[in-house]
Amino acid sequence: MNETPSPRDLPRVDTVLQAEAMRRAADAYGQPAATTAVRSALAHLRTEVVAGRQEAPLPSAEQLAEQVAAEMARSESTRLRPVFNATGILLHTNLGRAPLAEAACQAIYEVARGYANVELDLTSGDRTRRSLTVAPALCRLTGAEAALVVNNNAGALGLTLGALAAGKEIIVSHGELIEIGGGYRLPEVIEMFGARLRAVGSTNKTRVSDYVQAITSETAVLLAVHPSNYRISGFTATPRIEELAVVAREHQTPLVHDIGSGAMVDLTPWGFAEEPVAADSIAAGADVVLLSGDKLLGGPQCGVIVGRRDLIERCEQHPLSRALRVDKMTLAGLAATLALYERTGPQENPTPVLRMLRYPLAELEARTRRIARQLQENNERWQIAVLPDDAYLGGGTTPDQALPSWSMAMTLPAVSSERLAQAIRLGEPAIVARVRNDALIVSLHAIAEEDDPKLVEAITTAGQLAEGGSG
Ligand SMILES: *Cc1c(COP(=O)(O)O)cnc(C)c1O
Repeated sequence: MNETPSPRDLPRVDTVLQAEAMRRAADAYGQPAATTAVRSALAHLRTEVVAGRQEAPLPSAEQLAEQVAAEMARSESTRLRPVFNATGILLHTNLGRAPLAEAACQAIYEVARGYANVELDLTSGDRTRRSLTVAPALCRLTGAEAALVVNNNAGALGLTLGALAAGKEIIVSHGELIEIGGGYRLPEVIEMFGARLRAVGSTNKTRVSDYVQAITSETAVLLAVHPSNYRISGFTATPRIEELAVVAREHQTPLVHDIGSGAMVDLTPWGFAEEPVAADSIAAGADVVLLSGDKLLGGPQCGVIVGRRDLIERCEQHPLSRALRVDKMTLAGLAATLALYERTGPQENPTPVLRMLRYPLAELEARTRRIARQLQENNERWQIAVLPDDAYLGGGTTPDQALPSWSMAMTLPAVSSERLAQAIRLGEPAIVARVRNDALIVSLHAIAEEDDPKLVEAITTAGQLAEGGSG
C-alpha cells in the first residue's frame, strides 16, 4: 500500500537544477527562468503533498527536471516568433497579415530604438496631432481632404459611426450587415456606439430608392460596406457609390464607405476587379472612406479614415480616438509604405503583398521544382508532387478569389501528414503549411525567395525528427 509522502522527501531546488534536463533548459532559456520554473514546480508539489493529494513515491530530481524542462519547452512554443507562411494564403490573419516592405521595417527600427516627432512640429516646436505624420501622404494618394489613423479598421468603423451617428440612425443595406470576424458584427457595432441601425432592401437586392425612402430627420449616416469576406451572387443589385453619393448630398447626410482591404492601386490588371480603390471611392463622392492598413495596402496593422475635413475632425475629437491611437512604430511603418506607393511606377510593386499578387507563374513553378529536388536530395524517402494549385488573398479579403499558383504535396512513408505539419510548425524557423488528402501541402507563394535555404533545412530536419519519432 502507498505510504503518504512527507514534504521533507521532496528534492531540493539545487538538485533539480543540476539534473541534465534542467541544465539544458537553463542554457536555452536562462538560469533565472529555469530557477523560477523549478521553484514553482516544487512549491506546487509541496502543496499537493501537504494536502495529502500526492501519492508515494515522489518524483526523483531527474524526473522532476524532465517535467519542468518539457513544460518550459511547451510554453516556449507560444512565444511570438517569425513564421514561414507556406499556406498559400497571402494575408493570413492568424499569421499577422501583410509582410512589410524592407523600407518600412527599417523605418520602424529607426523610431523604435529612439524617439520620433510623433506629436511635435519640428519647425514651431509646438504640439501637433499624431496623424499629421502620415495624413499628407494619405491625402495625396486618395484625393481626400483629411486623414486619421487608428488601431485597425474595426476601430475606424466604430469610431466613425460613434462620432457621426451617436443617438441617431445609420442606414445600411441588408446585404451588407457583415460580421467582420471575432464576433464583430455590424448591427452590434452600431448599437455599441450608441447609434440605431436602419437596414434597407433585401439580402440580395438593394436599390437607391430603398435608401431614399428610409431617410428621415433622424438619419445621420449612409453606410456602404464592401462585403470582403463573402459574396452574394446570382440575382443581385447594389447601388454604386456614385449613386449613393448623389442621395447623400441631396439630403446632406454623410456617406461612409468601408472598403475593407484598402487597395491603393487598381488591381484589375492582377485579376482583382472587385477590390474598391480608396481614391476611386473618394472621387465617386464618398464623404468618409475606411480601410485596413495591413491587408492589400501591405503596411502595418492600422485603420485609415480619410475624407471630408469637418467629419475627420469630429472623429478625431471623439474620446474613443485616444483609446484607438497608434504608436510611433505603426506610424513609421505606414509612412514608409505610403512613400513607396508615391515613389513607384505602375510596373513596379511597392510592397511584398503586391509582388506576391503578380508573382510570375513560370518563375514560381521553377522555384517550387528546385526546392522539391533539394528536399528529395536531402532525404530520398520524401514523395513530392509539384502541382498547380490555388493561392488565396485571405485576411477577410476577396473570399472566392483564387490566384493561380503552385504547391508541393509531400508525404513520408509511415508518417502522418498531421504529424509532419506539427513537426514543421515546431521547427526552427516555424513553418505553417496545410494538410490535404493526407499530404502536407507546401506553398512557396508567400515565402521570400531569400528564405529558401532556411526553408529546405527546416523541412529536412523536421522530416527526420518525425520519422524518428514514429519509429
Ligand atoms: C477587414 C475588414 C474590416 C476590419 O478591418 P481590421 O483592420 O481587420 O480591423 C472592416 N471592414 C471590412 C469591409 C473589412 O474587409
